This record gives sequence, structure tokens and C-alpha cells, in this order.
Amino acid sequence: MHCQAARVSTGLGALTTFGGRGELALEKAHLPASLKRFIELVPKAELHVHVEGALEPELMLALAARNGLPPPYPSVEAARAAYHFADLQSFLDLYYAGCAVLRTQNDFYDLAMGYFRRAAADRVVHAEVFFDPQTHLANGLDWSVFMPGLARAAEDAAAQLGLSAAYIMCFRKEMSAASANDTLTGALPWLLPGPTGHSAIIGVGLDSTELGNPPAKFAEVFERAARLGLQRVAHAGEEGPPEYVWEALNVLHVRRVDHGVHSLEDAALMSFLNASRTPLTVCPLSNLKLKVYDGQLEARLSQLVASGLVITVNSDDAAYFGGYAVANYNYLARVTGLGVEQVARLAANSFEASFFLGSPGPGGEARRAALLAEVAALAARAMEEEKAEKRRQ
Ligand SMILES: [Zn+2]
Repeated sequence: MHCQAARVSTGLGALTTFGGRGELALEKAHLPASLKRFIELVPKAELHVHVEGALEPELMLALAARNGLPPPYPSVEAARAAYHFADLQSFLDLYYAGCAVLRTQNDFYDLAMGYFRRAAADRVVHAEVFFDPQTHLANGLDWSVFMPGLARAAEDAAAQLGLSAAYIMCFRKEMSAASANDTLTGALPWLLPGPTGHSAIIGVGLDSTELGNPPAKFAEVFERAARLGLQRVAHAGEEGPPEYVWEALNVLHVRRVDHGVHSLEDAALMSFLNASRTPLTVCPLSNLKLKVYDGQLEARLSQLVASGLVITVNSDDAAYFGGYAVANYNYLARVTGLGVEQVARLAANSFEASFFLGSPGPGGEARRAALLAEVAALAARAMEEEKAEKRRQ
């Protein structure tokens, strides 16, 4: 609790500097009931979530037991207690160790379905989900193990939960360009839409260790992905400098930037992102847990939401960072003093930034229009409640 109070007060000082809204933030240190309800009810798309990052300690230990492997932690509590990270790399070391319990098609199904159920409970209605094929290939698994499990979960999520999903395969930045190219070759049979039309791989991304691994290393494989008709995204500007974001845009021609929070340090880059409507997939609790902008995070997040950029809110690796979609919206709203109208903008941004919902047809553009109308209707009602709450105070 002490920590939380300290963080909020850091954010307040910063808000006074950046937006002059210190009092407003103070008022919203605890979210009003109308806003809390709106965040829970409003439909959202999640565009930056790693399926392996949804491996909750309970499932990790259950899969280790099911596969006859030594448990990575003696208990669920011990696993949670280990989740304190100094930086991105200290998280990645634990994260890849956790992935070793994934051995069978059913393990990947259970992992993805666990995420889809939890996301649907937070009113995520569409997800473009990352996965790391190189991690599973290095663990001795074949595409025919992990891909059918992931694809089947996406189909069941659509049928049982009304949550549409597609996958984006990420290349690990610390691995070679040749390895990324081989991985893309392995994915070729999975690039076509699955039986429900949108359950397989729609794009490529870059994730893992950023510092010392500038995006340009992957120019050729991204060019090949473009020729195959795949969407392109990249983690850039999470710990790395704005130059990495420029490289992702100019060399890899990404359509969305994952994280991208360090873009704030380059005014020309911010102008470009704004003018080109290039979305950033921001992950507030991930930034908090990995100490990105340590001590100034609330101020930086406030600048981002006030910037006019297409900012989206995402959970990244929810099992490790302490929360799924709603927890991320709640945290962001609390530390930056957002109201219903601004949260509605963020939810609408998630649909604008989605690749799949931009495609022609009833599952694409028409569904996006219906979802945006629902966001607007729910926001209008919540703003009335917000006004009534203020009158009662
Ligand atoms: Zn990520």
C-alpha cells in the first residue's frame, strides 16, 4: 500500500507539471464507480499480448506434473514471489524457463484457451495474439505440436466466447536473421486462414531482448513477410531509443509499434506517428513491473494519452505483470486521471488499430462499425452516471 501511495503521488506531481490536472488526478486516485463499471463493460481489442505470457503459475505447475517434468517452482506462491524484475532481461530469463513446461498440442490449447477465457471476462472481443515459435522449436517441439493447439483454441474462443482471434508470430531479436528466416519458412503451411476464416497467422513481429538488437537486422525477413501478404509489427522503444522506432518504421515498414513509449523523447517521431496514425500498443502494468521510465512512468503515460496518438491499452504478459485488460485500463486511468470519454477513445483506438477488424466483410469492417457504436452508446450512458456522481458529491 505504501508503494502504491508513493506511485500515485509521483504521478500527481508530474500531472501538475504536464497537464495542470493534479487535483483531478487526486480525485481519481480511487476510480469512480461509473468509470470502473465502464472499463469493465466497454468492448476492447487486445493487440499486444504474448500467449506464453498468460501462463499462470497454477497452469505452469499443472502442466509440469502432467508432462512428468520437475516443477519450475515448489508452489504457486513461490512462483508469484519470484516475479520481481529489475528490467526486461531479468523477466525474459524467467519467462523462457516457464515455457519449458509446454510439451503437447493440448498444453498449447489449454494455455491459449486460458488466456481467451480471462480476456473475454474483461470484455476483450478481439485479440491479435503474439507467440514465439523459436522458443518452442528450441525446446524440441515441432510446428505440428504448437500450431494446431493454438489454432484450435482460437476457433473455440470464437465459437464459445464470441472472441475472435488471430496470431502474430514474433522473431526473437537476440537471435539471428537466418533463424528468423527459417522460422518463417516453417510457418508457411499456417499462413492461410483456418476453418473459421481467421485462426492462423496473420503477421510477424519482433520481441525479446531490445538493447543491442536494432530492428534493421531483420529487414530481409520482414520484406519476405510483406511479399507473403503478412502484417508487420515490432517491439521498439520499450527500453531502446527512439532511433529503434524510426528503424522499425523506415526499414521494417511496421504498421503498428509495440510499446514505443520512448518515442516521447523525439518530437519529430511523435509528429510522424501522429500524422501517419501509426498506433502504439502501450502496456502500462508491464512498463511498471519492468521499470521502464522508473520513477517517471505516470508522467510519461500522461503525456502519451494526451498526445493525440492512436494509443491502445494492452496486457503484454499478464500472468507475470499482475493483470489482464481491465487491470491495465484501471491502472492507467488511476495514475493519469482519465474520465469516461478518454477511456472510450482508448477502446475505440483498439478497434481502429486492429488489422483484422479493418478487413472487408461482416467479420471485419462491419463488425468494427458495430463495436464503435457500442463503445459510443456505453460511453454516453457512463458520462450521464459520471455527471450524477459529481452532483451527489
Ligand atoms: Zn510484448
